[in-house]
Amino acid sequence: MTFDLASAIATADAPEQALKHFFGYDQFRPGQRSIIEAVLNHQDVLVIMPTGGGKSLCYQLPALLKPGLSIVISPLIALMQDQVQSLEDNGIGATFLNSTLTGAEVRRRSDRILNGEIKLLYVAPERLLTEPFLYFLNEVAAEIGIATFAIDEAHCVSEWGHDFRPEYRQLKQLRQQFSTVPVLALTATATDRVRQDIQQQLALRQPLIHIASFNRSNFYYEVRPKQKQAQRELIRLVKQTPGSGIIYCLSRKKVEEITQKLQEDGIEALPYHAGLSDQVRKVNQTRFIRDDVRVMVATIAFGMGINKPDVRFVIHYDLPRNLESYYQESGRAGRDGEPASCILFFSYGDIRTIEYLIEQKLDPTTGEALVAEQQIARQQLRQVIDYAEGLDCRRTIQLRYFGEPFEGNCGNCDNCLQPRSRQDWTIEAQKFLSCVARCKERYGMGYIIDVLRGSKDKRILANQHDQLSTYGIGKDHSIDEWRSLGRSLLHQGLVDETADGYSVLKLNALSWEVLRKQRTVMLAQSHRPVATQETQSEARANAELLFDRLRKLRKEIADEQSVPPYVVFADSSLRLMAQLQPQSIEAFGEISGVGSHKLARYGPRFVETIQAFCRTRRSSGKQAEQQAD
Ligand code: ADP
Ligand code: ZN
Repeated sequence: MTFDLASAIATADAPEQALKHFFGYDQFRPGQRSIIEAVLNHQDVLVIMPTGGGKSLCYQLPALLKPGLSIVISPLIALMQDQVQSLEDNGIGATFLNSTLTGAEVRRRSDRILNGEIKLLYVAPERLLTEPFLYFLNEVAAEIGIATFAIDEAHCVSEWGHDFRPEYRQLKQLRQQFSTVPVLALTATATDRVRQDIQQQLALRQPLIHIASFNRSNFYYEVRPKQKQAQRELIRLVKQTPGSGIIYCLSRKKVEEITQKLQEDGIEALPYHAGLSDQVRKVNQTRFIRDDVRVMVATIAFGMGINKPDVRFVIHYDLPRNLESYYQESGRAGRDGEPASCILFFSYGDIRTIEYLIEQKLDPTTGEALVAEQQIARQQLRQVIDYAEGLDCRRTIQLRYFGEPFEGNCGNCDNCLQPRSRQDWTIEAQKFLSCVARCKERYGMGYIIDVLRGSKDKRILANQHDQLSTYGIGKDHSIDEWRSLGRSLLHQGLVDETADGYSVLKLNALSWEVLRKQRTVMLAQSHRPVATQETQSEARANAELLFDRLRKLRKEIADEQSVPPYVVFADSSLRLMAQLQPQSIEAFGEISGVGSHKLARYGPRFVETIQAFCRTRRSSGKQAEQQAD
């Protein structure tokens, strides 16, 4: 297909044509088309779309169709470089200006802009409002025109957001100085307050507001109990799940420990936390982005500015602080729209750790408890626990938190795929609580369970608790089962536990209601993780093999150019190649993600690899037939 930009602009389907020509995609994602239309009509727009929704395309594509320079304001330098690289790889004139460049380089780039070679310019907000830059912008406006200001991560303008940046506040000046240039603000923030703030702070004029659903339908959600064997389970899980992944832990120490365990087990993993030098963090991040290592073990400090679209799993090995952070952190998976899993390991021990941290929230001057902050933190913790313990669809719970209704069964979370039944555990609860009473409310859960199960522990014998009527009446259940009953009783408030570090169980009014048979106790059955192994058909195994081979080729090409592999092709494109196995350049050009530039640049090598793969398959198939004869 030859493409004449000038004549395409005049046609109604110019966006579709440009989408295939420059980006290689066949269809717009939900919302993109109407946003792009508004931008082309010089309207202000506010785009609220979750991570991976495809926000960048909303300003990149109009930039190609509008005369003049489009300016993208982005606070994250790594992201900026990455996007420019991807655009250049698609044959699009793009560049960035930030503090990492020398004066000479800045001048060279400015010249290219004034020569009209550049359609998209990325800048950091702090540079934007400097005297020399504003002067330069005026020059650009006069000579080639400014098409749009696209303000990425627009929630940074709001103090109510999770990432307020004072420099963003000054962006209003841009609006005043270049009052005819339309503004496009984009964010993944879900709260209403921040949205209102963005509109006000940036002085948007009757903007088109696009709010996408926050449902990330390509995600599989699961919560697993974090038991004694959790580390081994974690390693098994990482081995079972192909592709890149992030494991989040709460402390640096845990990050180091888990990294080491993974490495010992032959999994390529690196750590990332605030205790490492900038240099080490940078190197580790780059190695992860380039697929030199498969797994990043990190504290939450990692991930804000990274734009790796093919992260296939995010595992929270420790409890997240609140549901919003869980959503944002797990949301770093699957930006390319391909399936990804978000797994949370949940233990009651973690709750105690966080509760302890909450109690430490004190006023630094008076040393008094920050009551309001503690209350908010407790409520947020409660919501995380509700999510983890909930029997409803995990999506329903998350989206409800963001005020978005979601109907019923998503079919892609553990609770939907393996609904847990609730069982009546009233009798067991009575045994448990009466054992607490008979031990005079002076022991913790482990001890009570030992008594129930008739342990010959020295302490029990010395206390003569083997003489109690509740001694040994609980042999029919395992320790784990009793523990989960105990935790659930705590959670439902049917028994209390002291917070003095000893965790002694104490009966309360509700405990007595259970003991007096005035209250039933229901317990969700714990369940095994969903089996991920299914029998693969031969065709699928075949596609899997080719996918691996194409991945290797992609990595080779990426290394030759020192770019991350996803800049060459997205996982989704490789998957399609592996399934459809195009053996000619024409057929290869049909694959989603293959634009004209990439077709010319990479087509021959990929097609050659696919042809070679198909040849060996055919001959090995023939051999098998002959042997069968
Ligand atoms: P966001 O900024 O909203 O997190 P991105 O702009 O990074 O999302 O897009 C996420 C991924 O989706 C990128 O890999 C991008 O190339 C891809 N993408 C965007 N639009 C489309 C489309 N219409 N068809 C296929 N893939 C798309
Ligand atoms: Zn579900």
